[in-house]
Amino acid sequence: MPHPLIHTDITGQMILLGTGTSVGVPAIGCGCAVCRSTNPKNRRTRCSAIFGLPGGNLLIDTAPDMREQLLREGIGLVHAVLYTHEHADHVFGLDDLRLMQFCLGGPVPLYCEERVEQRIRTSYDYAFTGASDLHRGAVPQLVFRRITTEPFEVLGARITPIRLRHGPRCDVLGFRVGDVAYCTDVNAIPAESMALLQGLDCLVLDALRPRGHATHFGLDEAVAIARELAPRQTYFTHMSHELEHEATNAALPPRMALSHDGLRIPLNHG
Ligand SMILES: [Zn+2]
Ligand SMILES: [Zn+2]
Ligand SMILES: [Zn+2]
Repeated sequence: MPHPLIHTDITGQMILLGTGTSVGVPAIGCGCAVCRSTNPKNRRTRCSAIFGLPGGNLLIDTAPDMREQLLREGIGLVHAVLYTHEHADHVFGLDDLRLMQFCLGGPVPLYCEERVEQRIRTSYDYAFTGASDLHRGAVPQLVFRRITTEPFEVLGARITPIRLRHGPRCDVLGFRVGDVAYCTDVNAIPAESMALLQGLDCLVLDALRPRGHATHFGLDEAVAIARELAPRQTYFTHMSHELEHEATNAALPPRMALSHDGLRIPLNHG
């Protein structure tokens, strides 16, 4: 690239890039107090995070707000993407990865399960035609790296996938890196996954709204999970406009809080 690259060093940190539910907060057309709030912590872009690992930046999901999120944090480079699942609010910022292939000198590795790969191959079919008449930045250059629930190494860190239930028909993955775990889009955690979430320094956990939901934890359910796992600190994410930041935080138990866009969490990847 002809211009200098803005590349903030985020090694040793996880940044919550987006902490909002699928429609974001404010929601289009909503006149509620949270959507009209001037507190920046009540503005939530779609759910995403990034890990600053020893070998580079690992983006968790490509939310529709990915471009704005990376610009906001001054992050000029994503070395690989790791997907939780294939829902639209976690995938459809993907085309903006086009800029990364210049910096990386090749395709962007996408670590995901088969279902996610199929969604991306279908939705972004133009990226997989192999057409050579396009200029180099016309379409995203992508390469898939299949993952399972087996731990794996990427960018110098060991990632432990955590199987989570996201309603009756969708299984997703959470991820543990050292003493930090990121578990969004979940309404039930199997016993074997609870076992993988012991001894955490920090847990990031789905909490959509005060009451429960068919595919997400409600706040009370999320608090109960946090009590059971007892990490040093829990932050809730994937929040709707039904959770006002300050009022909700004032009522939460110690060592639990709503997260907000841009929150930085120290990583200890062992
Ligand atoms: Zn979601
Ligand atoms: Zn609203
Ligand atoms: Zn989802």
